[in-house]
Amino acid sequence: MDILKDKILSEGTALSESVLKVDNFLNHQIDPQLMHEIGAEFKKRFEGKGVTKILTLESSGIAPSVMAGLLMDVPVVFARKRQSLTLTDGLLTSEVYSYTKQETNQICVAHKFLEEDDTVLIIDDFLANGKAAEALIDLAEQAESNIAGIGIVIEKSFQEGGGLLRDRGHHVESLARIANLAEGKIEFVQEREN
Ligand code: 5GP
Repeated sequence: MDILKDKILSEGTALSESVLKVDNFLNHQIDPQLMHEIGAEFKKRFEGKGVTKILTLESSGIAPSVMAGLLMDVPVVFARKRQSLTLTDGLLTSEVYSYTKQETNQICVAHKFLEEDDTVLIIDDFLANGKAAEALIDLAEQAESNIAGIGIVIEKSFQEGGGLLRDRGHHVESLARIANLAEGKIEFVQEREN
């Protein structure tokens, strides 16, 4: 998606060989027009998949997901990072290990918002090692929902998540795929726009 790649090049910052900062338009300040275009692109890429619900993770997955949900006319559910370890009634829970934060978080979603007749599109802001996506898949599987696919705004293709998810047979669509990061340098995977 060219406008997203242009935005990453003009406003993103490679903090290191593994971390990209995009606070200007996705992770802190949000560019609504770009989110709208991202929503439209997800709609196009998952057309005909029978999506009934979008599942994402708070907080940075919410903006692109809401735009996709608006355009696809389906509700958006965001998994919460759990505060209370005791209130478990009606909750599906899973665990996410964060390499960037070096900690494990529990995430949860109310079972009533994910049902077995749902066909779920999972959306997240970044795909790195695949732990967040795997936890969202786990929640959808616990609910016995179908999984239409996984939509990612920015995939860091040099990390293992994309390969793992595709090897497991998931339909993964990433709107920008980064081949290489170095301090001050961002390179994309060369691919044909569709
Ligand atoms: P994974 O679970 O695939 O290892 O990492 C994905 C999650 O970690 C995303 O939900 C995102 O919040 C965060 N993340 C991973 N890499 C980056 C990065 O380079 N930049 C930012 N801003 N977030 C990242």
